[in-house]
Amino acid sequence: MPRVAIALGSNLGDRHANIAAATAALRDLATPGEPFLTASLHNTAPQNCPPDSPRFLNTVIDLHYSGADPLEFLDRTQSLELALGREPNPVRNAPRLIDIDILLFGKTALNDTRLSLPHPRISERPFVLLPLQEIRPDFLP
Ligand code: AMP
Repeated sequence: MPRVAIALGSNLGDRHANIAAATAALRDLATPGEPFLTASLHNTAPQNCPPDSPRFLNTVIDLHYSGADPLEFLDRTQSLELALGREPNPVRNAPRLIDIDILLFGKTALNDTRLSLPHPRISERPFVLLPLQEIRPDFLP
């Protein structure tokens, strides 16, 4: 059963409520009875975002998932983004209610058009790396 690390970010609307709603929905996806770890919330400056973008609230979650297919898991997280009100925006890194990135899916290494694993930008994003290392101290960039 893969252990999956997921980054959450919000910089639009009620950021705390958005992160809480995503966390609750991910808990429903996780295998009952297995550890479900949440890092602390990090209030961070926007990075590589359009000018005057609001600050982010970021965290990382680590859960056990009963499925073996990372693309199927991506379908679920992308559906969840839409269910939580995220609207498609052609502007790169435009403010968003919720962003869900899969950081690690077990030991899977993948370079698919839809999904790269481990997430290729973990090391260049302190707002991902710091909360990840809180709950996955085994992770070495
Ligand atoms: P964004 O929501 O702006 O971070 O971008 C999501 C896009 O990145 C989608 O088109 C995904 O298919 C793609 N993607 C590639 N690798 C990943 C990953 N590890 N986690 C989430 N989305 C990914």
